[in-house]
Amino acid sequence: PNQLMAGKRGLIMGLANDKSIAWGIAQALADAGAELAFTYMGDAFKKRVAPMAESIGVTQLFDCDVSDMASVDAAFAEIEKEWGKIDFLVHAIGFSEKSELRGRYVDTSRDNFLMTMDISCYSFTAVAQRAEKLMSDGGSMLTLTYYGAEQVMPHYNVMGVAKAALEASVKYLAEDLGKDGIRVNAISAGPIKTLAASGIGDFRYILKWNELNSPLRRNVTQEEVGKSALYLLSDLGSGVTGENLHVDAGYHVVGMKAVDAPDI
Ligand code: NAD
Repeated sequence: PNQLMAGKRGLIMGLANDKSIAWGIAQALADAGAELAFTYMGDAFKKRVAPMAESIGVTQLFDCDVSDMASVDAAFAEIEKEWGKIDFLVHAIGFSEKSELRGRYVDTSRDNFLMTMDISCYSFTAVAQRAEKLMSDGGSMLTLTYYGAEQVMPHYNVMGVAKAALEASVKYLAEDLGKDGIRVNAISAGPIKTLAASGIGDFRYILKWNELNSPLRRNVTQEEVGKSALYLLSDLGSGVTGENLHVDAGYHVVGMKAVDAPDI
C-alpha cells in the first residue's frame, strides 16, 4: 500500500466481476488510499459487484447504462449529491454484438456499427462532459483501449474501428480539458481473459500469440493495468495527457519476432 491517492475521490465505470480490468484498477487505487464510487450495468451485475465493493470499503454504487443519457445524468447527479466534486474518472466499458466479433469486418451491420460506436466510444465523451463539471480542482480521466485500433487483429473488426475513434477522442478531450487542469489518457491493454474478451472469436489463440510474441514473452494481468492506471490517475502522471500507454508486455513494438532463420 501507498498513499498516492490519499484524499482523492473518483468514479470507476465498467465493473462486471472480479476478472474485470476495472477491478484491477479499483484495487490499485483503493490500496493507494483513494475513495471510490462504482457504476455497474443492470441488476444482474449488482449481485456480483456489491460484495466486491464492500470488500474494499466502497459504499457508493450506482446503476448506469451509458447508452441511455438519462441514466448517465442520473448517475452523475448521485455523485454530485454525495461528493460535490471528484478527482478522477475511469471508463472501462465496451460492447459489440458477439456475432460481429468474428468473421469479416466488411460484413458489419449499420445497427451494430452505431451501437458499438455509441457504447465503446461516444460514452467516454458523454461521461467526460459530465465529469468535467465535477472536477473543479482539476482531475484525471482514463479509458481502456486495445491495439486492434492501430493494427488489424483477427476478429476485432468493428471494435477496432470504435477503439480508433476512442483513441482520437482522448486527444481531443485532452486538448479541450487541459486548460482546466484535467488530464485525459488511455491505457492500451494487452489481451486479458474477461467477460468482454470472451465475446471475441479465437480469444484463447490471441492470448497465446501475445504470450509467444511479446518482448516479455507473457501476457499482462489486471494488476499490471491497475498499477499503470495508478500512475496516470495520480500525481505521478501530472505531466501526461493525451497519451495512449501500452500495457501489453511490449507487444505493440514487435514487427516480427526473431526465430532461427531458415536458409533462403
Ligand atoms: P468486462 O466485461 O469485465 O468489462 C466491460 C464492461 O462494460 C462491463 O462491466 C459491462 O457491464 C460494461 N458495459 C457494456 N455495455 C455497457 C453499457 N451500455 N453501459 C454501461 N456499461 C456497459 O471486460 P474488460 O475486458 O474488463 O473490459 C473493460 C475495457 O477494457 C473495455 O473497454 C475493453 O474493450 C477494454 N480492453 C479489454 C482488453 C481485454 O483483453 N480484456 C484489452 C484491451 C482493452
